[in-house]
Amino acid sequence: MTTEAVKSTKGWIEISEDHCKGCFLCIEDCPQDDIEIAPHFNRMGYHPAKALNIRCTGCGICFYACPEPRAIRVYKRGGPAKGDS
Ligand code: SF4
Ligand code: SF4
Repeated sequence: MTTEAVKSTKGWIEISEDHCKGCFLCIEDCPQDDIEIAPHFNRMGYHPAKALNIRCTGCGICFYACPEPRAIRVYKRGGPAKGDS
């Protein structure tokens, strides 16, 4: 768990920056407005998504919206993780 992750009481996400193509789909779909785009570039030359983990509920919508299989992991307190395989 990252330092940022403890801000949310219900859930949190982790984004693998180098698997992210900066498509904004997770940002547009997050009902908590809890993901933003980072100002720096990743290894592939995209601005990666950045988890805020302030209001995250662990709902998993960002995981299902993301076209990149290994970019997002979602954790919900007391439940199984999505994207851990
Ligand atoms: S799990 Fe849900 S609330 Fe948390 S960042 Fe993803 S879409 Fe937003
Ligand atoms: S949906 Fe996936 S690829 Fe697109 S910005 Fe979010 S983490 Fe990156």
